[in-house]
Amino acid sequence: MSLSAESAAVNQATIEKSPIRHNWTLAEVEALFAMPFNDLMFEAQTVHRQHFNANEVQVSTLLSIKTGACPEDCKYCSQSARNKTNLEKERLLEVEKVLEAAEKAKAMGSTRFCMGAAWRNPKERDMPVVLDMIKGVKALGMESCMTLGMLSEQQAEQLQEAGLDYYNHNLDTSPEHYNQIITTRTYQDRLDTIDHVRSAGMKVCSGGIVGLGEKAIDRASLLAQLANLPQQPESVPINMLVKVEGTPLADVDDLESFDFIRCIAVARIMMPKSHVRLSAGRSAMNEQMQSLCFLAGANSIFYGCKLLTAENPETDQDTQLFNKLGINTETIADDSAVAAKQLKTALVNEQHKDLFYDAVR
Ligand code: SF4
Repeated sequence: MSLSAESAAVNQATIEKSPIRHNWTLAEVEALFAMPFNDLMFEAQTVHRQHFNANEVQVSTLLSIKTGACPEDCKYCSQSARNKTNLEKERLLEVEKVLEAAEKAKAMGSTRFCMGAAWRNPKERDMPVVLDMIKGVKALGMESCMTLGMLSEQQAEQLQEAGLDYYNHNLDTSPEHYNQIITTRTYQDRLDTIDHVRSAGMKVCSGGIVGLGEKAIDRASLLAQLANLPQQPESVPINMLVKVEGTPLADVDDLESFDFIRCIAVARIMMPKSHVRLSAGRSAMNEQMQSLCFLAGANSIFYGCKLLTAENPETDQDTQLFNKLGINTETIADDSAVAAKQLKTALVNEQHKDLFYDAVR
């Protein structure tokens, strides 16, 4: 089958139904990427409306609880001890400081508080402090998320028992491009940590970074890896590289904006029930580009002016953009309320779809 015929077939199949699939082939993913832009956006928006309120975005806040001096060699990262950046290092924050930040985030509309530490993996001596942070965030009525590096099975269970809702562990890039970016831990190490998080009963936040000098096929391969996990991640951050002086990727070529938007759209189509998060790199995107990302199916962002150590748009700018677009922020609801809301969204979107088809017939 030619690429365009294959693209049309994929297009037709996904518009009619968007089941969760775990058997995506690279050729199918490439065919999605190769679709005409307007068709891709339409399909992504159609899939999006089958599962979500198209005018709602989930908002998280991310705090660095331990900054810099990381022994890993991630070539994009300002926090790696091997990269000569001007980052100010910080020890593990006190629990009280973390909870103060969480309270502020809640007051600004965040429903999830994410805490990130620049570690290869948490040490046993750090665990009691980390567990107290989770309990404190949960006591505020927020969802909690952590990213602490690799986890053992036992550590994953401890985090779950403390009430951690999500664990973030990105695959970063394709298995094929991986060795160009990180050599101190393997792709399989990452998959093992995700497996431990799942086995412990927590939700998975896992995505990647684009603009790392990878080829187009690597972006397709990364999304295939994520979608073909035994259970797709509930949250899929798609990051645009933030180039940091002193890192080996400081001078890598920019990724074309449309290639980034295509990534969001393809992620939405392949992982229809996941929150696709527009993550790092947003401060370099104008309002129009961010809007296209929302149209492509992104429905989660980080609020707050720092993303671990990279710049993020000011909360006020986000609020203004949401007002211009008529976007509301998601609230936390219990499971029955979520189910009722999803049903209502599906019904409303079905009506919209019929109206749309009537209008174009
Ligand atoms: S990305 Fe994470 S693991 Fe890699 S160097 Fe940075 S802080 Fe360390």
